[in-house]
Amino acid sequence: LLQVAIVGGGPIGSRVAFKLAEYGYKTAVFEKRNNIGQKPCCTGIISQECVEKFSIPKSVILKTFNSASIFSPSGEYLRVFKTNPQAHILNRSAFDCELASQAQKKGVEYYLNSKIENLEILKDKVVLSAVINSENCKIETQYAVIAAGFCSPLVKQIGLGGINYVVAGAQVEVEIKDKLPEVEVYFDQSVAPGFFSWLVPISDNRCLAGLMTRQSPGKHLRNWLSVLESKNRIKKGNIRIRYGGIPLKTLSKTYSDRLLVVGDAAGQVKPTTGGGIYFGLLCADIAVDTLHKCIVNNASSARDLSIYEKLWSNKLSHELKVEYLTRRFYEKISNKQIEGIFRQVKKSGLVESMMEDGNLSFDWHGDLLLTGLRSSVTSGITKLLKSPFNKP
Ligand SMILES: Cc1cc2nc3c(=O)[nH]c(=O)nc-3n(C[C@H](O)[C@H](O)[C@H](O)COP(=O)(O)OP(=O)(O)OC[C@H]3O[C@@H](n4cnc5c(N)ncnc54)[C@H](O)[C@@H]3O)c2cc1C
Repeated sequence: LLQVAIVGGGPIGSRVAFKLAEYGYKTAVFEKRNNIGQKPCCTGIISQECVEKFSIPKSVILKTFNSASIFSPSGEYLRVFKTNPQAHILNRSAFDCELASQAQKKGVEYYLNSKIENLEILKDKVVLSAVINSENCKIETQYAVIAAGFCSPLVKQIGLGGINYVVAGAQVEVEIKDKLPEVEVYFDQSVAPGFFSWLVPISDNRCLAGLMTRQSPGKHLRNWLSVLESKNRIKKGNIRIRYGGIPLKTLSKTYSDRLLVVGDAAGQVKPTTGGGIYFGLLCADIAVDTLHKCIVNNASSARDLSIYEKLWSNKLSHELKVEYLTRRFYEKISNKQIEGIFRQVKKSGLVESMMEDGNLSFDWHGDLLLTGLRSSVTSGITKLLKSPFNKP
């Protein structure tokens, strides 16, 4: 009988596995793909805070930045700049492999080509129905963790509901004409309706071009790539668009008897950017602390495990709420209104002053958003934004 079975060998599943193995628990990871690190679509941007907190080795980092440019539809831009490193671009595949290898070194067993199809929670154990190398089998475990990524059907199947506020991401790797010195983010409702697009350099002559949007992300990305080609920003070539789903809201319940849900499967993702690595890793550690306490006290009821949700909510809920509201707000505004916001923010010097007093954080920008709304900028923005909310 396993002590903890983890469904999903992405970064969050591997972090949970590693920490549990550090405590000495008999842990196994079940991954449906043939290999670790096969995530089809991720830009891999994480903060300096994340790198430091989780001791992420340089070997899995492609590039490091201390600045980014944010563009309005007409090409106005705001430059966010700090003297020390702010963001890192991961080699996502190498990152997943590194976390899995750290867990394996601590004794975690990895079962690849192993899809968990069903979970049955019994009084004294959880039984996983799996297809391992095309063979049906049952795995028994004391506790289970679902870290199976975006909208895992297992979550619904055990009665924890689903996430209904999601977005699709589409991304390609392309060759650039001139060296791209920093990350570029574009806000333009005609390019990425409701969301944004990005150019992220990964080497001297290549970058990731991608966008998030709810409808037809592939079509929108192809249109944007044609514009970038016509502006001589990128070279024409064969492209392979990769797609991925992103949850923008958390599950309403992330625990059950003998079970926790972590990472994208729980919707522990930043609603402003769609980044899920850092918050997922933070929640992974909270999940492990909860499981450790439960194992030591021989506790396994949903009530015992509910402390996990209390703890991660304490840490993230303010940030997630403000970001969620900002996201809903942004979805409603027009390009003209985006231009207005850019003008107001530039005029107010808000970004510069927040950079100077150190309040501008890559991961925790809820307070910046609140300050922005409360500051003198607010009156201008509110006036500008009156129309979309007044529509019948
Ligand atoms: C276009 C795009 C860009 C992104 N860019 C960023 C970014 O720049 N920064 C950032 O922080 N985040 C980014 N993200 C989000 C990030 O990719 C996720 O938050 C992160 O991968 C979550 O990790 P996870 O381990 O929870 O899930 P995943 O990485 O999805 O891993 C889940 C694993 O579970 C496996 N699995 C699923 N079901 C089963 C099953 N039934 N049995 C066994 N195994 C199963 C899957 O094969 C997968 O390996 C981006 C996402 C997209 C789509």
